[in-house]
Amino acid sequence: MSAEPDSSARPGPSAGPGSGRHVLILGGTTEARRLAEALAADPACRVTTSLAGRVTAPVLPPGATRIGGFGGPAGLAGWLLAHDVTHVVDATHPFAERMSFNAAEAAALSGIPLLALRRPGWTPGPGDSWTFADSLAGAAELLPALGRRAFLTTGRMGLHAFAHLTGTWFLVRSVDPPDGQVPPQLEAVLARGPFTLEDERELLARHRIDVLVTKDSGGSATAPKLTAAREAGIPVLVVRRPPVPEGVAETGSVEAVRDWLRPPG
Ligand code: NAP
Repeated sequence: MSAEPDSSARPGPSAGPGSGRHVLILGGTTEARRLAEALAADPACRVTTSLAGRVTAPVLPPGATRIGGFGGPAGLAGWLLAHDVTHVVDATHPFAERMSFNAAEAAALSGIPLLALRRPGWTPGPGDSWTFADSLAGAAELLPALGRRAFLTTGRMGLHAFAHLTGTWFLVRSVDPPDGQVPPQLEAVLARGPFTLEDERELLARHRIDVLVTKDSGGSATAPKLTAAREAGIPVLVVRRPPVPEGVAETGSVEAVRDWLRPPG
C-alpha cells in the first residue's frame, strides 16, 4: 500500500478549515459511510473519510475523502497533527487486522482521542449449524469435511488460503474480480451488498451449494446468507474475528459516536 498520503484526496463541502472539530473516519465499511452521512449536516464538524484503496470504484461518502495508507502508525500520527484532526473514529472492518492497532498507536503518539465504531458479531440461533475457525487457514482445514460445493464470502484477498483445495468447487463473491492464487475449481460472482434473502436463497439453490464460508463480519447488509443457509439446512463455517487493541473505547452505534463528538456542556 502506498504511503502517498493525499494523492487522491477529494475535498468535500465540509472539508475547509474551520473553528470546529475535524473528524477523521477510518473507513471502508457501511458504518463509516453512515457516520459520514450523519455528520455531513453538522456545520461545526469537518469530516474526512480515509479509505485503504482496495476497491477500484469505492462508494464515496459525503465530506472529504483521502485514499491510501499513511505509512504505519507514525505516518498516521503525523497526518492527524498536520491536518488538525481533533477526533479519530476507527470504523474499519472487524477483519482489518492492522489498521485498528495502527489507529490505537497513532492516537497514543498524537494525544488525539480515538473511538472504535464496530458492529457486533453474529451469533447462531436455533436451526443453525455453525462451525468456527480461528483463521482463513483454519477454515480451509475444516472445509473438506463439511461440504464439496462451497459459497465463499470471505473476500478476494484471502483466497490463497483455499488455493490448495482441489476437491472443492467454490462460488466466490467479491466486489472486484479474484486475482493471485485461487482454488482451481472456482466461479466468481461480482457483487456489492446489501443482499436480499430472496437473492441468497436463489444463489444457494442454483449452484447447489452445500456449505457456506463467511467471516464473522456482523451487520445486516450481508446477514441474509446466514438465514438462507439455515433454511436450506446448509452448514456454515464462520471465521472468528481477530483481536482488537486493548484500552480503546468502542461502540456499535453511529448515534453514540455523535454523542462522543458533542462538545461538553
Ligand atoms: P489492514 O490489514 O488492517 O490494513 C493494512 C494496511 O492498509 C494498513 O496498515 C494501512 O496502511 C492501510 N489501511 C487500512 N485501512 C485503511 C484506511 N481506512 N485508510 C487508509 N489506509 C488504510 O486492512 P485490510 O484488511 O487490508 O482492509 C483494508 C480496508 O478494507 C479497511 O479500510 C477495511 O475497513 C476495508 N475492508 C476490509 C475487509 C476485510 O475483511 N479485511 C472487509 C471489508 C472492508 P498504512 O500502514 O500504510 O497506513
